[in-house]
Amino acid sequence: MPSKGKNSWSPNQQNKPDKNQGDPNKKPGMPEGFKFRFSLGYVLIALIAVSFFNYFLFRSDNTVVPYSTFKDKIRTGEIKRVEIDINYYTGYTDARSSEPASPLPATAKPGVVYKTVPVTDPEFTALMDQKGVVYSASPREGSAILSLLLNWVLPFAIMFFLWRTVMSRFMGSNSNVLAFGQNRATVVAEGDIKTRFTDVAGVDEAKAELVEVVDFLKNPQKYTEIGGKIPKGVLLVGPPGTGKTLLARAVAGEANVPFFKMSGAEFVEMFVGVGAARVRDLFKQAREKAPCIIFIDEIDALGKSRMSGMIGGNDEREQTLNQLLVEMDGFDSTSGLILVAATNRPDVLDPALLRPGRFDRQVLVDRPDMIGREEILKIHTKTIKMDPSVDLSKIARSTPGFVGADLANVVNEAALLAVRAGRKKVKEEDFQNAIEKVVAGLEKKNRMINPKEKQIVAVHETGHAITAAFTPGADPVRKISIVPRGFGALGYTLQMPLEDRYLVTKEELLGQIDVLLGGRAAEELVFHSISTGAANDIARSTDIARRMITDYGMSEKFRNVALTKRGGSIPGMPQIADPYATKEYSEDTQRYIDEEIASIVDERYKHVQNLLIQKKDMLDRISALLLEKEVIEETEFAALTAELTSPSAAAASSKA
Ligand code: ADP
Ligand code: MG
Ligand code: ZN
Repeated sequence: MPSKGKNSWSPNQQNKPDKNQGDPNKKPGMPEGFKFRFSLGYVLIALIAVSFFNYFLFRSDNTVVPYSTFKDKIRTGEIKRVEIDINYYTGYTDARSSEPASPLPATAKPGVVYKTVPVTDPEFTALMDQKGVVYSASPREGSAILSLLLNWVLPFAIMFFLWRTVMSRFMGSNSNVLAFGQNRATVVAEGDIKTRFTDVAGVDEAKAELVEVVDFLKNPQKYTEIGGKIPKGVLLVGPPGTGKTLLARAVAGEANVPFFKMSGAEFVEMFVGVGAARVRDLFKQAREKAPCIIFIDEIDALGKSRMSGMIGGNDEREQTLNQLLVEMDGFDSTSGLILVAATNRPDVLDPALLRPGRFDRQVLVDRPDMIGREEILKIHTKTIKMDPSVDLSKIARSTPGFVGADLANVVNEAALLAVRAGRKKVKEEDFQNAIEKVVAGLEKKNRMINPKEKQIVAVHETGHAITAAFTPGADPVRKISIVPRGFGALGYTLQMPLEDRYLVTKEELLGQIDVLLGGRAAEELVFHSISTGAANDIARSTDIARRMITDYGMSEKFRNVALTKRGGSIPGMPQIADPYATKEYSEDTQRYIDEEIASIVDERYKHVQNLLIQKKDMLDRISALLLEKEVIEETEFAALTAELTSPSAAAASSKA
């Protein structure tokens, strides 16, 4: 805590709550780990509660008189009945309630009551006998039990409550410490699931695979008769938001079987053994409910390769994973139990999970293609009032790379924008604006940028756009904007591919680097200085260059050699940057890679600089226009580049 600069502590400083001295991001009053002050507060409250309780219970309604006075009252015959109790002698001035057939309940207040604290006095009973006082030594049972409760049970209860509160705070979760080994309330089977395959679109291959699973759950005998083996586990693999969770629910819905859902992270607990017990319990419950589906979402949290990751590993996770493997081996595929799991990190999964007899069927849930996107849009626009002129296929065409969750988001945003514009129906332009919004984050028109910065941003973005326009194979520029959006992006150049792409050539990769470098090159050319605005571009272009060398085997020295190894990756699955990817090369090679990256980037930068020098006039004109209009659309940009291209260059770039 560097802010704690003062070493002298004045007394009143000590008493102040320390919320201003700690981490400024922390919520005031939140305990930092185990904080003594925190539990002390609870103890105090408990103490006050106990004494309050005590006070009310043992408060005498009557004044306690001295013992001598009490004895006098017996002597004078005023007290006719005495109840002897552990703590008090209680004298009553009438004897009514002592009779067995008394109409009054014992609790009723009969006559005047005197109380006294007894002293050791052997003559007391003799005196009472002499005076004919009715006396009984039956203590009120209730009070005996109460005092037992207060003296023994309550303190323990309070201690337990405190311990539990502190523990749960300490663990940073609200898990019930006592209930470890048992299931949480969340793992109840969901029955009667409404999701159907028709609610999922654009993932036809995955659906086709899962139809068989549904059929098996519906009529298992069909498969067992013929001796066929049904997979025990189906692993849904794909980028986030492609509908994996949705598909798993649809399987349960179609088959009309109970659905146990749990996420991988929920199995990994504070205490070693808890997750394993939870797995055991989950399978036990599921076996009782079979046929049914167990769905483990984000299984990578649990099934990370036991080798990779942190040093020393994680005992709890390993035990849980082992238990899962044991359970998977333990059940028979004829039992009607099917395990479905989902992950977007198949590369980090423990290979043991993917072995035959476990998750032996892997289903790729990929990003939807254009037709798939249109289908998904149809599903999500069902409940939306749309203008008949809206063309969903056009929207699908302009959203390459969007996953189902993005498209659902677009539809929702479009509806909101229509409402904001006071329309009763959603129009085409609402969709276009929604797409932009989803692509680039929320428009922040009211953010102030100073004019100089704005000028730099305009030149930078125009640099990207012109480089893209004159790079063969680069995606066409759809829009250039210097309206700040989202977090930190001051402007953007929107490029959209004409079609879905699955392969990228080396030339196209270099072209991507060119376009990324175009922003900075333009800045340098116009202002003779460079800014931090290109940080993201630099990071991305460096990454492309690195992967060309290490992953795609595109360098001179290591032609067709992969230099990193990725564990357990599934063919057909898009490569995801993997922090744990192991390096399979020497220090020398590392140096070579670094030098090669630098040389690729440098060469491309020189190329882009040359291109922009040739197009300097165009750069100036378009950036000035962009500064004025803030946004330049695709058609306008194409017209400008065509118009401004000098006759000699026109032949070279006929596409513009
Ligand atoms: P994942 O589990 O793959 O990350 P989800 O299944 O949670 O993705 O998807 C989130 C939401 O996005 C779904 O509830 C649904 O509304 C929408 N969605 C995603 N993919 C699809 C799809 N293929 N078809 C229809 N809707 C989809
Ligand atoms: Mg999910
Ligand atoms: Zn840029």
